[in-house]
Amino acid sequence: MIDFLNLKKINEQYEVALLPAIQRVLASGWYILGEEVDAFESEYATYCEAKYCVGVANGLDALHLGLLALGVGAGDEVIVPSNTYIATWLAVSQCGATPVPVEPNEATYNIDPARIEAAITPRTKAILPVHLYGQPADLDPILAIARKHGLKVLEDGAQAHGARYKGKRIGAHGDMVAWSFYPGKNLGALGDGGAITTDDAELADRIRELRNYGSRVKYVNEVRGFNSRLDSLQAAILRVKLQHLDIANQVRRAIASQYLTGLAGIGVTIPYVPDWAEPVWHLFVIRSKSREQLQAHLNQAGIGSLIHYPIPPHLQGAYADLEFSKGAFPIAERLAGEVLSLPISPVHTEVEIDTVITVLHDFK
Ligand SMILES: *Cc1c(COP(=O)(O)O)cnc(C)c1O
Repeated sequence: MIDFLNLKKINEQYEVALLPAIQRVLASGWYILGEEVDAFESEYATYCEAKYCVGVANGLDALHLGLLALGVGAGDEVIVPSNTYIATWLAVSQCGATPVPVEPNEATYNIDPARIEAAITPRTKAILPVHLYGQPADLDPILAIARKHGLKVLEDGAQAHGARYKGKRIGAHGDMVAWSFYPGKNLGALGDGGAITTDDAELADRIRELRNYGSRVKYVNEVRGFNSRLDSLQAAILRVKLQHLDIANQVRRAIASQYLTGLAGIGVTIPYVPDWAEPVWHLFVIRSKSREQLQAHLNQAGIGSLIHYPIPPHLQGAYADLEFSKGAFPIAERLAGEVLSLPISPVHTEVEIDTVITVLHDFK
């Protein structure tokens, strides 16, 4: 059996460091925000090459509060990828705004900057690129379009902890980056968690206010805020795991290059990495016209695989009111029918990945 993802095995690697961190929080008597969260925020900001980090309850909240801080509200439009996890779209909807999908570049699977301008209207307020599968989106042209049209840029970094765009870490290229620390992410907590990073002190302050009932001073509520705070326990756990993130990403990189070499020329599409991108391989996604048979073949050999994602947001019941028909975003729809994610994680061994490659070679 080769699991797609074994979180128990991943977290057990850090048990010796995690237990004292958990005990420290237990003994502190302080369980929400506080010193652990302050320390994590400062360490994660440094890691991301950003000036500020603000911890929140989860990745969806990070996106939602980020958009609110940028002034997105009812009647506004936000440009989103047609090819993403639905959270990206839901955050826009939670602001009362409308997600406006733009198709991906078919080589990188990330939003195609060349298609963005055609989607801009007088109501467009922001662009929300996603660094999908851990591969940075092409930010420079996106930022240039945003500047030209007076738009804000919030990046969805939920799959890209540690990735670099043109040598600089994802963290503050655009106005803000939203992060998720869902257990399965490259930097995962033992529960829910999220954060915003930014170089803008005022935006960071606004998030601090929004996450805590709209309050900067206890019992003084300047705006109608939310309860979206990061737990001290999760912060303490994330501080331990952050110290090992680069090594974990290095293992993912080694597995990715093993796949890229081993799967060349066998009739599946393997990921393309532009020379300006340093991906962190949250997922290793191949494409095949016979995806279902290929997945069944892997399954028979005891190899786990998943589909990210089988139904694009515009065809979900949740967005039926936007009245997109089948065929509205053909690239996203084609990807949904062909993508397959292979096992890749810091605890997969070279031998296991070789087995996956051999089994894929045997597929007829
Ligand atoms: C995981 C994820 C989110 C949401 O994060 P949660 O912490 O689960 O709310 C948002 N966007 C993308 C691309 C994700 O992969």
